[in-house]
Amino acid sequence: MKRRDFVTGVLAGSALLAGCNEQTADNSSTTAKPKKVIKWKMVTTWPKDFPGLGTGANNLARLIGEMSGGRLQVKVYGAKDLVPAFGVFDAVAQGTTELGHGAAYYWKGKSEAAQFFTSVPFGMTAQEMNAWLYYGDGLKLWTELYKPFGIVPFPAGNMGVQMGGWFNKEINTVADLNGLKMRIPGLGAEVLKKLGGTPVNLPGGELFTSLQSGAIDATEWVGPYNDLAFGFYKIAKHYYYPGWHEPGSVLECIVNEKALKALPEDLQVIVESACKIVNQDMLAEFTAKNNQALDTLVNVHKVDLRPFPNDVLKQFLSLSMEAAADVSNRDPNAKKIFDSFMGFRSQVMNYHKISEQAFLNARSPV
Ligand code: CA
Repeated sequence: MKRRDFVTGVLAGSALLAGCNEQTADNSSTTAKPKKVIKWKMVTTWPKDFPGLGTGANNLARLIGEMSGGRLQVKVYGAKDLVPAFGVFDAVAQGTTELGHGAAYYWKGKSEAAQFFTSVPFGMTAQEMNAWLYYGDGLKLWTELYKPFGIVPFPAGNMGVQMGGWFNKEINTVADLNGLKMRIPGLGAEVLKKLGGTPVNLPGGELFTSLQSGAIDATEWVGPYNDLAFGFYKIAKHYYYPGWHEPGSVLECIVNEKALKALPEDLQVIVESACKIVNQDMLAEFTAKNNQALDTLVNVHKVDLRPFPNDVLKQFLSLSMEAAADVSNRDPNAKKIFDSFMGFRSQVMNYHKISEQAFLNARSPV
């Protein structure tokens, strides 16, 4: 009985609606308003379709398209397709493209403070960074920092704790870093400088050939999943852990502010929400795939996997805190961000000592 009532109701409703449509059709010629399609471009700092990073940008574009029912369509360009890898920020600031996918620490030449929004050596993990960004002052401060450039940032990806990098020689003491020419971005670069090394900032796509030609002696990139894809095991002998310099690097989706504000409100929410989905999804992907890739590196390619010595890590730690404080002392924008970052870090560290850390230690007793 109920079902029949429901069906009858629906039919009656349809008839009513049909009646309405006819009426509207009589009164106006604009019944079926054509869907307005907006087309955007996204430039990225990654090679096109690169596992995890490039595909993360593709996912973001796909989600925006699907969630908007095709009203906002995004075409993704790999590094160098439209602009060079490190030209992404300018392209979005100038409105050449509406969207960019990359990492804030690449823009330390624009503002040193940008580095705090990717990763600080010995800073915070992915989980902690997201907590600071979404529920602390992180994203608010980041938005303020990019405002003068006409750019709105959203967190859009994370890889978890990275690896320490690929080296052709053993690192047994900090003296082994003296004179080392290494690709390392962000504040980790400042630490290497303090130890007498020469940091180089290169986009991912140029690392293999630079290492092969001897232009650099060592490189860090991301973790097993991405490092395997670039084939560094073919050139460098030793693979060090942990990635002290990038414990939870946040990727960014940057949006031209004018273009974003010109969107209908629901599409603005879709852009923001799609970024949030990709931010979480990428972390899950990397967590799953790093395990498999590490197994291949060690068991198939016979990579020499080793931890940095404790004394070296201790030195990295104290110089990292110094490097972050240096930036904050040089730049008033950075000071505000540094204070917020370090304040949140110390609070979350207190809690994680008795939760995440205590659990992980208990799960793998030494
Ligand atoms: Ca890295």
